Amino acid sequence: MDTFFLIKYGEISLKGENRKVFIDRLKRNIKTRLKEFPVTITIRPGRFYLTAPEEYEESVRNTLLSTFGITGFSKALKVNKDMEFIQAAAISITKDMLEKGKGTVFKIDIRRTDKHFPYDSYGLACKLGDILRTEFPELTVNCTRPDWILNIEIRDAAYLYGDEEKGPGGLPVACAGRGLLLLSGGIDSPVAGYLMAKRGLSITALYFHTPPFTSDEVKEKVICLTQQLSRYIPRINLLIVPFTNTQLCIKEKAKQEEVTLLSRAAMMKIATMIAGDRHAGCLITGENLSQVASQTTESIRFTGSYAILPVFRPLIGFDKNEIVHIARQIGTYNTSILPFPDCCTLFAPPYPLIKPDFERMRRSFDALEMEPLLEEAAGNTELVTFTTRQTGL
Ligand code: ATP
Ligand code: MG
Repeated sequence: MDTFFLIKYGEISLKGENRKVFIDRLKRNIKTRLKEFPVTITIRPGRFYLTAPEEYEESVRNTLLSTFGITGFSKALKVNKDMEFIQAAAISITKDMLEKGKGTVFKIDIRRTDKHFPYDSYGLACKLGDILRTEFPELTVNCTRPDWILNIEIRDAAYLYGDEEKGPGGLPVACAGRGLLLLSGGIDSPVAGYLMAKRGLSITALYFHTPPFTSDEVKEKVICLTQQLSRYIPRINLLIVPFTNTQLCIKEKAKQEEVTLLSRAAMMKIATMIAGDRHAGCLITGENLSQVASQTTESIRFTGSYAILPVFRPLIGFDKNEIVHIARQIGTYNTSILPFPDCCTLFAPPYPLIKPDFERMRRSFDALEMEPLLEEAAGNTELVTFTTRQTGL
């Protein structure tokens, strides 16, 4: 037997002229993620209908729970617009809700887009309410505080559902271009990538690797984080940039208190060089105001000045506990806290600059004459790709 899902999308419906583009993209994203399964998706005003063989129900659910652009979805019964069928479906859903212990106080919500249907919404709700209370005497109706709602939509057919699950919201990935995510092994940058993908960006992740000062375990950790993000961001790739020569040059030639800032600036510059080749129109970082010395207004002004593209810092105003909360929700937290030191901690000066002088820092950067090193790093990135199968979907 087939299972039928009714899918709701939110903000997309506000997008005026571009609406069709957003809707097609969302459909394509769901289809791509379920490409191994024989599902069909139909677009209707304000809704998608998805049909899949029953045995794939759980895979479909998992996909819908993690596809940006979806605000909610329900497993629904689709029946003929005939009272006899509607009544049988309503009884079946009510029985199911009672068996699941959802409560005995309910209400019926009806959306009737087919104005030719012989009952109006109120009439249909009253009739079905009476039938259900006769069938299940323990039921009571409360329109303001129900335990659950029996939803009925009268459209091309009648659609009935009880439970509704929340989707992640946002906009479909790939409707807003591509961003290059500077992904370290920490807690913040995976969350930053998640939030920007939720606004419709495709993501390519970029990790600056500094062997032997950072171990292969850190690299594995970043690969693992990218894989975890791929649950939400289909086709995310990871670029690994060899950063050792740049880092050593800075360490050897720069003033100790400037080392972290110069490394960050070099990362921004290399990322900007790579962005063009990867068709990325912006950079994304996990920076968070005042979290560390390199994230004060003055520090961010300096490091950001090496990115010609816009830099999105979605976490800039978050509290750490808010970031941790999202990291736990999206499943990256436990990987992020694995205790492998990264190069930032290894090369961090004991007294970093908190309010760097912009002109002085620019001169320090120029004095290092790192251009060939930066170009070499940008040109020698290693690409790691993830297939849908690897993501466990
Ligand atoms: P995170 O938790 O994301 O590692 P953090 O709090 O440790 O952030 P920093 O180490 O100062 O902060 O890094 C600030 C941002 O710079 C990171 O969020 C990330 O976007 C970028 N970044 C830092 N180190 C690297 C790296 N090795 N590779 C890629 N991006 C990096
Ligand atoms: Mg970090």
